[in-house]
Amino acid sequence: MKTNQDETVMPKSTEILTVGPAKIKNPINFGRFAEDDEAVLVNISRRNVDGSNRSKKTPDHVYFEAAGPREKIYYDASKTKCAVVTCGGLCPGLNDVIRAIVMTAHHEYKVTSVFGIQYGLAGFVPEQGYDVIDLTPEYVSRIHEFGGTVLGSSRGPQEPEAIVDALERMNVGILFMIGGDGTMRAASKVVKEISHRGLSISVVGLPKTIDNDINYASPSFGFDTSVETAAMAIKGAHVEATGAPWGIGLVKVMGRDAGYIAAQSALSCQEVNFCLIPEDPFDIHGENGLLAALDKRMRKSGDAVIVVAEGAGQELLKESSQKDASGNVQLSDIASLLKKEIITYFEDQGIEPTLKYIDPSYIIRSVPANANDRIYCSFLGINAVHAGMTGRTGMVISRWNGRYVHIPIELVTKGKKRINVQSNYWRAVLESTGQPTSLKNS
Ligand code: ATP
Ligand code: MG
Repeated sequence: MKTNQDETVMPKSTEILTVGPAKIKNPINFGRFAEDDEAVLVNISRRNVDGSNRSKKTPDHVYFEAAGPREKIYYDASKTKCAVVTCGGLCPGLNDVIRAIVMTAHHEYKVTSVFGIQYGLAGFVPEQGYDVIDLTPEYVSRIHEFGGTVLGSSRGPQEPEAIVDALERMNVGILFMIGGDGTMRAASKVVKEISHRGLSISVVGLPKTIDNDINYASPSFGFDTSVETAAMAIKGAHVEATGAPWGIGLVKVMGRDAGYIAAQSALSCQEVNFCLIPEDPFDIHGENGLLAALDKRMRKSGDAVIVVAEGAGQELLKESSQKDASGNVQLSDIASLLKKEIITYFEDQGIEPTLKYIDPSYIIRSVPANANDRIYCSFLGINAVHAGMTGRTGMVISRWNGRYVHIPIELVTKGKKRINVQSNYWRAVLESTGQPTSLKNS
């Protein structure tokens, strides 16, 4: 595709598939329609400002297709059924996304039904016996007030064939899949199976990651709420630490491979003294290790707050052999190790530290979205329906460089976003904590 600005050709890698040509007049009669050649530059600067590694392979002048309603749509709304499924871990904003999809599909397009598939991909499989929920505007009108997902979620594999069988049985035209990297991989396989059978079913993904680690979903929905909630726990840890002799607050937050929640909440609080993330390996012992730096801090100020992402320091622990139902490796518990090592370290010196350990992870996952995330989730849901109605498929909705865009699913499942520890972003975190630039001995 061409953009009208500089005749840059849209590379194959960002082209969006469709199930067929859009020939039907869009029933929406208010506002403006997006043109098919509206596009958003992928790289607006030569480097990312959020500290993530920019793909060195992404050349300049690559565009993502802009999201929004189109003048012509593929599906005849009066004969179209949609389905929504939520998979993987909980994240603030899931209900807001579901609500926006249902409201837009019903009110703007007047589709006949939106089916809610219960408990993730398992809900497609008849043997599981989960009923399908009829998601009406009345059903979803208040769901944004609650955390979690009204549809429930699950892990564990399901055959794409079984999922497409279910879509055929229910006569679904558009499937909305809300979930993390695993869900997006599953979505890709469903798209392939649909195409293999020559069916006209659109699959639109809405990437969910509380860790903010999915490529081209930046920031991910629910992240703002997560940081706000983590910050409350950190404030509590700070109060505890300052209220006791040799007081230490230790807070574990989510972040399997990327420490964005830890880093961002440390920045927001300015009360964190050590922020430990998976991207920045550290030592516990030794002259440059965490304990030596903590000792210095305690003797100078009398208290300290440590925020550790769950995936930090995994190299210091015995590798866990346990996996969840979806095959994700379960992490070893870094916070318990830190707690034990810190207490032993000070006790060996005849000092009794008061260490308060707070793990707000499940609270962070399950709170309702804050105002910013509610708005964000609404736009994601609304644009997902607009995209689906045009017959677009194999794509996700995201916000990129301030605009809502369509991104091929394959692009978001390729690799994961990480904090670049050489970036100014990470330096700002280090400046706010005052911790040494490295806690490694060599
Ligand atoms: P989170 O990041 O919160 O864990 P997720 O979407 O990655 O979310 P998973 O449990 O890993 O959560 O995957 C969600 C669903 O997608 C599961 O039912 C899982 O079996 C399925 N899935 C994961 N990876 C694949 C894959 N490569 N191919 C097909 N299905 C997959
Ligand atoms: Mg995952």
